[in-house]
Amino acid sequence: MASRAVGKTLLVAKFTAFVFAFIGKITGQALLALLSAPFSKNAARALSDIPESEIRNIVVVGASFAGYQAAKLIATSLPSGSPFRVIVIEPHSHFHFTWVLPRCCVVSHEDKAFIPYGGLLKGIPSQRLRWVQDRVASLSGDTVLLKDAGIEIPYEFLVIATGSGATDGLPSRVGSNDRATGVELLKKFQARIAQSEKIVVVGGGAAGVELATDAKEKYPAKSVTLVHSRDAVMHRFGPELQQEAKKGLEALGVELLLGERATKSESDEHSLILSSGRKIEYDLLINCAGQKPSSDILLNLAPASIATSGKVSVKPTLQIDDDSLPNVYVCGDVSDTGIKNPNARFAYTQAAVAASNVVLAAKGKAPTNKYKPFWGDGVIKLTLGITKSVSYLSDGNAELLFRGKEKHEELMSAQAWAQMGVKPYNDPNPDGPAVKCTPEQVAALAVGSSSGASGSSPAGASAAKQASSSEESTRGIVATEK
Ligand SMILES: Cc1cc2nc3c(=O)[nH]c(=O)nc-3n(C[C@H](O)[C@H](O)[C@H](O)COP(=O)(O)OP(=O)(O)OC[C@H]3O[C@@H](n4cnc5c(N)ncnc54)[C@H](O)[C@@H]3O)c2cc1C
Repeated sequence: MASRAVGKTLLVAKFTAFVFAFIGKITGQALLALLSAPFSKNAARALSDIPESEIRNIVVVGASFAGYQAAKLIATSLPSGSPFRVIVIEPHSHFHFTWVLPRCCVVSHEDKAFIPYGGLLKGIPSQRLRWVQDRVASLSGDTVLLKDAGIEIPYEFLVIATGSGATDGLPSRVGSNDRATGVELLKKFQARIAQSEKIVVVGGGAAGVELATDAKEKYPAKSVTLVHSRDAVMHRFGPELQQEAKKGLEALGVELLLGERATKSESDEHSLILSSGRKIEYDLLINCAGQKPSSDILLNLAPASIATSGKVSVKPTLQIDDDSLPNVYVCGDVSDTGIKNPNARFAYTQAAVAASNVVLAAKGKAPTNKYKPFWGDGVIKLTLGITKSVSYLSDGNAELLFRGKEKHEELMSAQAWAQMGVKPYNDPNPDGPAVKCTPEQVAALAVGSSSGASGSSPAGASAAKQASSSEESTRGIVATEK
């Protein structure tokens, strides 16, 4: 008991230090933004003087928390006169704000989950950053193949930030690229919950707990059951959060079935058979389990780098753990950095490390910045119904819980829009990013196109390898070594 109290006191002290360090970091970032603003304009002018055939590509695959941030940092940190430009490839028309998806499956704030792209790119000229709305189908050692356009784009450096996907889409991921369909899918989900009487949620991670408690608070008369295969919900976190989540579920009247694996009944399409043999009926079944890292694009190029978890093995520099590919970086949820519960803060920090190393390597220097997971980035907020939440922090030994009241049904959507550089909730381009390339501009990026960049010439690839083995060490503008 005494050692538990000491652990908590130490954690409070570490947390206080973390808050001060965080304020320092934000101030530092604001200063860097000020310093880099005029610098970006210089870089843009210099790039326009370089013949198109000499421009080289840094391709970023995926533009969610990790990729969007990495693209911005690289584009604003490349030195004046650098021949490199960033090409972002992302199939979604909008940034999907995953944090509010379970909430938007129950209550009507669906439009707020789709944040317009472009806000973080203000001031970056299109020459320095190109945006392609497409999906990467596969990779070679120096090109990416686009699924829809069917063309190959050459790269000198590659940043893979493809995150993870959910087999059943909502409530964890939106199963569509365009905003209009995404909004429709969320509205349909809300209607299905409103029309159902017996709701069964499978999976007691954050999405399952949040959705089950929201549904029960909004519709107290409905039966809501949460089935989880482990002995506790939120089992990847510490026992205090597990207990708090259990209490929150029970206080609202959600029936909790723990230690049960569920399979669909073959004879009755509205029943589940549990591992204990019990049969439960439903008129709405919601699967919140089954998230999977999106690493398939590496199946041909570097299959051995895909771990059994589906994540991609990386070096501390966030280069892929394959010595033949020193110019390929991986960050965010898809990277295997040993983090038990990945989240957006980890993804952001990894993006900064990968970006700083790409900028170093593009300058012909060694990518020396190393990523070390920081326990303070693991802080999470879990909602327990529409009005209650708990914030949780652990350093792996002690745990801290902060109970809170939620004033806004849409949670932190407005802050997220503002942080993405756009005014909440003003979307001037509901059909897709204003920054995106036209089909003709995309075609011009292809290997062998007359106006396309030279991309990864043999000389370029060897420059990347040389930079990777160089002993020279320097910190790039966005370096965040910890
Ligand atoms: C329901 C839910 C709630 C969450 N709540 C929180 C929270 O409260 N706080 C928190 O910090 N974290 C939260 N998280 C976790 C957080 O969302 C993830 O850690 C974060 O999204 C990881 O970011 P990422 O950029 O690595 O990948 P992702 O967000 O998974 O994005 C990957 C991007 O890559 C794109 N992509 C994938 N494949 C390709 C391809 N082949 N070609 C081109 N593009 C591709 C996708 O379209 C997507 O935009 C939550 C997650 C979920 C599912």
